[in-house]
Amino acid sequence: MSEEIVVIEGDGIGREVVPAAVSVLEAVGDFEFVEAEAGDAVKEETGEALPQETYDTVADADATLFGAAGETAADVILPLRTAVGSFVNVRPARAYPGVDAVRPETDLVFLRENTEGVYAGHEDRLSDDLSTLTRVVTTSASERLAEYACEYVEEQGNDGFQVVHKANVMRETDGRFRDAVVDVAEGAGVETEEVLMDAFATRVCLDPTQFDVVVCPNLAGDVLSDLAAGLVGGLGLLPSANVGPDNALFEPVHGTAPDIAGEGVANPSAAILSAAMLLDHLGYADEAENVRTAVESVLEDGPRTADLGGDADTEAVTAAVLDRLD
Ligand code: ATP
Ligand code: MG
Repeated sequence: MSEEIVVIEGDGIGREVVPAAVSVLEAVGDFEFVEAEAGDAVKEETGEALPQETYDTVADADATLFGAAGETAADVILPLRTAVGSFVNVRPARAYPGVDAVRPETDLVFLRENTEGVYAGHEDRLSDDLSTLTRVVTTSASERLAEYACEYVEEQGNDGFQVVHKANVMRETDGRFRDAVVDVAEGAGVETEEVLMDAFATRVCLDPTQFDVVVCPNLAGDVLSDLAAGLVGGLGLLPSANVGPDNALFEPVHGTAPDIAGEGVANPSAAILSAAMLLDHLGYADEAENVRTAVESVLEDGPRTADLGGDADTEAVTAAVLDRLD
């Protein structure tokens, strides 16, 4: 093993949870870490939230581990997703034994379209009274997401997937998304169930076990995965992967958490679980499982950070995870 992993701590608790995740990667493998900068802090120094050097380093790397960016988040993460050519944001949301959850039976994964929708749209101010937003949906990006979803469910025994949309209202854009996704799935012999996005919000709260793999347009995936974070006990637990054809960037779903940044009390679980997804991506399935099992064990028995009702700090939780690695 000597893959190059780019490490971007970013701002806020990114500076605390990313080093925790790197120490776990160091414990299970022999990687070359390349530090790069992005976010508010580097903007203050250099005027640029995402230096070209960082963009190029990420584009050339095997994988990147990213923390969070503050005010400059949109200027950093959107271009970085482009740097890795990421067309899907993989966001698993599952509850863990020992962690208080609204819905402890939750175990699902969102496959969120990562390049278009309203986030790729153009906003215009047309008058003092009127602003508009153009939403972008292509058949090609929708099909690429669906192909990934088909491969994803096939690896797990092919129980099909759900497609979230609102094509009854946004007939042109979500209609195109829905048709493209369902066509690809049909061609691949994968079953799909269509779920309207508002109905999904209610149904996932009432009974998350109805859902397993959920394919979403960009904005719906962003909002609904945060909702699922609420069902499983908070943002400190959710990892994510921005996957491209031969590169990927991994980041906790949470942001910079300015309310607790600098105190050393952030929950490192989401960042460490993001590192486990990175290990899987690089082909180290055993190492990934080792890390996940250690995190699960610490979540179950403690020590726990304050967001999970404990009083341990980031360092103590990280040390416990390192201690429980095989
Ligand atoms: P940003 O503007 O960077 O997105 P935010 O204010 O939206 O920041 P988040 O980071 O999304 O903050 O966090 C929302 C809430 O969840 C905050 O109260 C924060 O303290 C809490 N939180 C998020 N991540 C963690 C974590 N890893 N450990 C503990 N608490 C967390
Ligand atoms: Mg936020």
